[in-house]
Amino acid sequence: MSERESLEWTLRDRAKLGLRHVGKCQECGEFCMDTPHPEKAREWCLRHVEDTGHVFYELTAFELLRAARTKRPERKGSSPA
Ligand SMILES: [Zn+2]
Repeated sequence: MSERESLEWTLRDRAKLGLRHVGKCQECGEFCMDTPHPEKAREWCLRHVEDTGHVFYELTAFELLRAARTKRPERKGSSPA
C-alpha cells in the first residue's frame, strides 16, 4: 500500500461562503461577480440586457469545498515536519 492510499480525506463545505451564484451572458461571455443571492445574479442579467440587448443567459450555482484529513497520516521514516 502506498503512502498516498493511507491518507483519508473528506470534503467539507465552507459555511461562511455557502452557495454562490453567477449570472453569465451566453452571447458575449460576460459574467457578474459571484453572490450568495440568486436574485442579485438575475438583476445583473437584466442590467446587461439594457446595456447590450443580449438575451441569452445562464445562471450557475456552485459550492466551495475544502478537503480535510479525517485522520492523521502515519509517519513513515523521519520526514521533516
Ligand atoms: Zn452579453
